[in-house]
Amino acid sequence: MLKTPRKLIIAIDGFSSSGKSTIAKDVAKNLHFKYLDTGAMYRAITYKILKHNIDLQDMQSIQNLLDKTSIDFKLVKGENHIFLDDVDIEDKIRELEVANNVSEVSTIQIVREFLVKLQQEIGKSGNIVMDGRDIGTVVFPNADVKFFVSASLKTRAKRRFEELKAKSNDKNLKIEEVEANLVKRDKIDSERKHSPLKVAEDAILIDTENMTKQEQLNFVLEKINEKIK
Ligand code: C5P
Repeated sequence: MLKTPRKLIIAIDGFSSSGKSTIAKDVAKNLHFKYLDTGAMYRAITYKILKHNIDLQDMQSIQNLLDKTSIDFKLVKGENHIFLDDVDIEDKIRELEVANNVSEVSTIQIVREFLVKLQQEIGKSGNIVMDGRDIGTVVFPNADVKFFVSASLKTRAKRRFEELKAKSNDKNLKIEEVEANLVKRDKIDSERKHSPLKVAEDAILIDTENMTKQEQLNFVLEKINEKIK
């Protein structure tokens, strides 16, 4: 285990299904740090907006919904689950309907402000690994170590497809559909006005295309070690 001299914040940003959550979880486990999946938080708000049938242009209703929203993470059978208003919605947020709408919801400034504040609150005590799109640029621009994870579109679509297939009963799920969703999300995430997905100047790049999970973990731990020396 790494001996950390102070409370660290590790930011892991990157494209959808680039492998960043796997790296983030492995690093957190290895360092005995907390892990925060910020994508799950945007998915949770999207799920609630869809459930209440709220129009994405209707800022007043979205604000009212945010005012009555609580988001927590709890361990369920050793896995980190997200709870929305005290209900475990971990499975629900991974469904394609949420994936198809989450990037639109993530462009809404009041949603971002609400979640960034919550993420800063959760992260401020340190010794945490956070994964997302804007952790190193907006949420914690002073994070101790920042990574940016990428892989080719084909590889990301394949990984996401396998993951969804393992979890869902949807026999009609097609890899083309999953790939189209990734392309759409990449575009919206990179082009949105408020905190778009971009590589922080001081981020360390990781291309996971030809790396095993163990190689990714070793690389990240080595870089963290170098940075904090
Ligand atoms: O990481 P994940 O794929 O679960 O994220 C789902 C969506 O949430 C992303 O496509 C993006 O639109 C949004 N997101 C964001 N900022 C973050 C994390 C996720 O805008 N920090």
